[in-house]
Amino acid sequence: MKKENYKDILKKIRESHLKRRKIKDKNRPIAVWMQDDIYRDFKIGKSLTIILRTEGCYYAKEGGCLMCSYLMDSSPEKLTAENIINQFDYAIEKYKDDLKNLRDFSVKIFTSGSFLDDREVPKKARAHIYKELSSFDNLKEIAIESRPEFITENRLSEIRDHLSTNVEIGVGIESFNEEIREKAINKGITMEDIIKAVELSKNYNIGIKAYLLIKPLFIREKEAILDSIHSAISCIKIGCSRISFCPATVHKGSVMEYFFNKNQYRPPFLWSILEILKEVKKTCPNSLIMCDTAGVGSERGAHNLKNCKCNKIIKNKLETFTLTQNIKILDYECDCKEVWRSYLEVEEKNIVPLGDETKLIKTLDYYS
Ligand code: SF4
Ligand SMILES: [Zn+2]
Repeated sequence: MKKENYKDILKKIRESHLKRRKIKDKNRPIAVWMQDDIYRDFKIGKSLTIILRTEGCYYAKEGGCLMCSYLMDSSPEKLTAENIINQFDYAIEKYKDDLKNLRDFSVKIFTSGSFLDDREVPKKARAHIYKELSSFDNLKEIAIESRPEFITENRLSEIRDHLSTNVEIGVGIESFNEEIREKAINKGITMEDIIKAVELSKNYNIGIKAYLLIKPLFIREKEAILDSIHSAISCIKIGCSRISFCPATVHKGSVMEYFFNKNQYRPPFLWSILEILKEVKKTCPNSLIMCDTAGVGSERGAHNLKNCKCNKIIKNKLETFTLTQNIKILDYECDCKEVWRSYLEVEEKNIVPLGDETKLIKTLDYYS
């Protein structure tokens, strides 16, 4: 009998999930909200985030990244440029009065895929969005997201034909280590693709925000810490405009969930995240280092010991650090840090990563 590898598992999961996508209103975005944010010049302001519903990431349909199930939010039906335009107009209309009254603000337009892929956002819709955004005098920054294969001369000049403001493209670089990016994430992009996108964008004065995944599958906690530190410093060296760490969260319907359910994957400890942020910020004090906190504190997201009071406290600290860039905020101690230290130590001696720490606690109890 043929042994199933994770790519077979991935294919099966995607196929069954694609069938389960629900039909939603084509003319409404997935979500839109306003929040505090930090600009590229380190000033704090407001940002409007719009998550557009599209036909989904083409790469996810082919299997995609092992931690991702964004495809579930996408539309199972064909969407036209008009549908995307209606979604965008709805979001802007909803916050129009607030936006007009702000001194300045930024806009983030995400698709849980690639904004620059015509299959997700047709050229006509992109042009409409750029044109509408250019009418705001107080718009300070614009952020979009894309896989690097769509960051071309053509798409970049399209942006600059309409917009002279600060623009950043978020790219899921995930790790600077080719082997981790390929085998532990299945990202399907090479270092060459990344460097090409960064260099090309520089010519248009467009920044690249590097999304880095903290603790992909198949690697141990200690390796994850070292990989994240090395990846961030390397991304800064090649000229990325900011770093946005994404501590892994176990998405429903991902390969990561498959291993999580078998107790062969544990999301990162918050102690690891504090270490990473402190080290990167210390080494690169003038760079903008951010950390996403979606899922943080929950069992499926980055957490320390379950139910420990420090989970909530550290989550708040990560949010404050992202806004202020003040490294001192990250200093914190809690008794459960000892468990993390033991976990790192025991895992180092293991052939495979440990999974849930209860396994470690049971082992420690056995020997005590
Ligand atoms: S992480 Fe990004 S590139 Fe990878 S499958 Fe998900 S949406 Fe596509
Ligand atoms: Zn604790």
